[in-house]
Amino acid sequence: MGILAICSLLIIVCDMMSGVKFRSQAWTIFVKFSTLVSYFEKLESTRKRLEMFDILAELFRQLNASEIDKAIYMTQGELLPPFHGINIGMSEKYLLRSISEGAGVDLKEVSQKYKNLGDIGKVSEKYFKNEGKEISVEEVYQQVHEVASVSGEGSVDLKILAVATLLGTVSSVEAKYIARFLVGKLRLGAGDATVLEALALSKGDRSYRAFLDRAYHITSDLGLVGKTFFQSGEQGVRDISVRLGYPIRPALCERLSSSEEIIEKIGRCSVEVKYDGFRCQVHQGIEDFAIFSRNQERTTPMFPEIAAAMRQVFPNEEVILEGEALAYDEVTGDLSPFQVTIQRRRKHGITELAQKVPLRFFVFDLLYYKGEDFTGRPYVERRSKLVELIEKNDVIEVSKALETEDPEEVTQFFDEAVEQGLEGIVVKRLDGPYAAGSRNFNWIKLKRSYKGELSDTVDLCIIGYYAGKGKRANFGIGTILSAVYDKDSDRFKTISKIGTGFSEDELIQLKELLDQIRSPECPVGVDSEMTPDVWVAPKYIITVTADEITRSPSHTAGRDAEGIGYALRFPRVQGFIRPDKSEKEATTVSEVVTMFKQQKNVKIV
Ligand code: ATP
Repeated sequence: MGILAICSLLIIVCDMMSGVKFRSQAWTIFVKFSTLVSYFEKLESTRKRLEMFDILAELFRQLNASEIDKAIYMTQGELLPPFHGINIGMSEKYLLRSISEGAGVDLKEVSQKYKNLGDIGKVSEKYFKNEGKEISVEEVYQQVHEVASVSGEGSVDLKILAVATLLGTVSSVEAKYIARFLVGKLRLGAGDATVLEALALSKGDRSYRAFLDRAYHITSDLGLVGKTFFQSGEQGVRDISVRLGYPIRPALCERLSSSEEIIEKIGRCSVEVKYDGFRCQVHQGIEDFAIFSRNQERTTPMFPEIAAAMRQVFPNEEVILEGEALAYDEVTGDLSPFQVTIQRRRKHGITELAQKVPLRFFVFDLLYYKGEDFTGRPYVERRSKLVELIEKNDVIEVSKALETEDPEEVTQFFDEAVEQGLEGIVVKRLDGPYAAGSRNFNWIKLKRSYKGELSDTVDLCIIGYYAGKGKRANFGIGTILSAVYDKDSDRFKTISKIGTGFSEDELIQLKELLDQIRSPECPVGVDSEMTPDVWVAPKYIITVTADEITRSPSHTAGRDAEGIGYALRFPRVQGFIRPDKSEKEATTVSEVVTMFKQQKNVKIV
């Protein structure tokens, strides 16, 4: 980047100042940003999912193929899916300066207004009172994209100037949404599933979901799916296949509580060790190389030894592999617990750390090889190709597996894994394809569990906190309110208040993080009967264990007709915030219901 982006940014700023319309407008009719914003307002005013589908579908029908992707990204509050690694780079501090400069108001006053209103969008709306020049969705998107692309010396001032100019060009309601968008606070509650449903409805009916979902699960790019759909129709979307550089959404495991149940369910199967480290999806092209986490973030710099080993094992070959990276003890060869591996999750000093905390990469799946998409092939085929391709090396090795139909052998394999300090096992259906983005019985996990605990931990999304009492009052945070994700309604539903498991330092750190995502009211997409002292946007996931799942009228998760939902008994947090999970990867309501039923049936403890 650099010079080019700076030049185009300057041209845009000059254009905006002189009132000249952006060049491409001369020959294409673009939807106005004000139209998009009117739909944002409609989305904000409803919490009903069916209404959201209709609002979005109506919006999509007005867009052409060159702008649908941008509108989708913006509806999601993103410039591009996070795996592209492009960050707008506009902090609230910079934005307040843009507002101050653009509106000609003292920065202190703007900052004070923000403190009072608690919503930077409303601050922007208040100070920019223009009618607006009716610029298009394309133009706003392009300008924000340019702001994101500027880097290097002087870039901060340039960003601030460009944003000040943009805000001065649009109407006050547009300024409100642009401000929220710039700092990542445009939250309309329209998640991936809602956008996919609306895309299907905009061109036909719900039955289109199947091929749209598939394309999304193997590319993680909703804009790409929407654009292809509008440009090339159903066949175009069906033709989308796995691409290097586009993370495939992870296949996930269902739970069963005994070896017998597993064999009864899927028959002859492959039993693999469940490694407890970082899930890594490695994309190696001839020239490019990327590693993605389980929530599709780029984690490449964290694992230089995997990159080096991949080039040795697959010289000049295109391949996508998935596996788990774990720290190990160089002297004993033992694998280390997650608390040791987690040290590798940092940005600086990786080379020294790689010496101190060496990693092994246990590959458990082959998703793409030399131009061929392997995701649709049966497990046995993917596995045998993997074994054929990977010769054990200092860093990379194929996951340990045993093929059997004998529950006793499964239990024995499980016991051995647990004895080695591992988490348990993942059992795989022999003819199962790689179920991108799905949790089903192609993969079944069985984890070790301790007396008096649930057979598995749950991953909960924090949606608020209560100021502490007694000693905890000093930290300003005592208990957190947490929720599970309800896939059917695309909403977060409360399940537990949790006050145990965080150290004092963690509480301080947690409060700092949560205060950055405070919400003045119950956030969009959250259903709660309880009102915490501070609401926060659903963003952070914590892993929680508990004694059991109980029925409770206080929580909204899984509520039945009598208003009785589910809750956790004696919940306690394990570790800190899960950096590898995004909010929608929280445990789902239906998983909680299944675990509730399984409680009575646990055989392996
Ligand atoms: P958990 O918190 O129990 O890891 P999860 O919600 O993160 O659960 P699951 O669907 O329960 O995900 O389990 C899949 C996880 O297990 C993946 O994150 C994956 O990296 C890890 N894993 C470890 N070993 C294997 C293996 N051999 N095959 C598949 N996944 C494995």
